[in-house]
Amino acid sequence: MKKILKLVSKREIAENTLEFCFEKPDDLNFKNGQHFVIKIDNLSMIDEKGNERVFSVVSSANDKNLCFATRIRDSAFKKTLKSLNQGDEVEVDGPYGYMTLPKSIDKDLVFIAGGIGITPFIGMIRYAIQENLQFRIYLFYSNRRPEDAAYLDELLNYNKEGKIKLIATMTQWQDSRISWEGEKGYIDETMLKKYIPDLNNVIFYIAGPPEMVSAMRSLLENLNVDDSSIKSEDFTGY
Ligand SMILES: Cc1cc2nc3c(=O)[nH]c(=O)nc-3n(C[C@H](O)[C@H](O)[C@H](O)COP(=O)(O)OP(=O)(O)OC[C@H]3O[C@@H](n4cnc5c(N)ncnc54)[C@H](O)[C@@H]3O)c2cc1C
Repeated sequence: MKKILKLVSKREIAENTLEFCFEKPDDLNFKNGQHFVIKIDNLSMIDEKGNERVFSVVSSANDKNLCFATRIRDSAFKKTLKSLNQGDEVEVDGPYGYMTLPKSIDKDLVFIAGGIGITPFIGMIRYAIQENLQFRIYLFYSNRRPEDAAYLDELLNYNKEGKIKLIATMTQWQDSRISWEGEKGYIDETMLKKYIPDLNNVIFYIAGPPEMVSAMRSLLENLNVDDSSIKSEDFTGY
């Protein structure tokens, strides 16, 4: 379904990372974890990468706005997106995607996010909390530095309140202005096993840059996790 939506607000959620919220029409339905194709008709500049990008929804499906988050980079699309003002319009087409919450709460959920790959998970987590769904959610969240970690404060709060188990890890914590006391380095077998005692009774969800997703899939395959228990999304373009 294609819709023209007006920008309501934008805010910074990490270094060079913005959240954009649009008015959501009543007949636009989706499940958290899904994504839309966002098209901007009049880019303020042109490049060969075009005027459309795919973004996962970060707002809960219950919210009155439809929100997305992205790293701002040098492409014509991202520069134009950054410069949009309240009331400016974009076209959204969707929803698409099957990486959504399961119907049953029998299995624990292990979300693995690389950087901005957090977006489908923040949407699912916000929805699950609002709806009081009784999933046990583990979120492994890898970033270079805390400054790069979108929604980190919100997720730390959910962790403190016992709503999720957050395992945030920083791979270049030495380059940060902020001291980091949490996990350090890449997500590996030792880190997974430290927090997830039974790797075979969970559903894994992975999202992030394609290299990261394929590294995580290989890790899980080596640990004999059945392919049917893994859902993943490659954030192409990163
Ligand atoms: C399922 C899914 C969900 C996603 N969710 C998010 C999200 O929530 N947030 C987010 O930030 N990103 C998300 N992405 C990635 C997003 O769509 C962009 O690819 C990414 O943000 C990088 O865009 P860019 O303009 O910064 O990068 P760029 O590398 O400048 O542009 C990437 C885009 O340009 C196209 N492209 C690259 N080279 C060329 C070329 N030579 N000619 C023509 N086209 C070219 C790519 O196909 C891609 O669409 C998602 C991707 C997928 C598949």
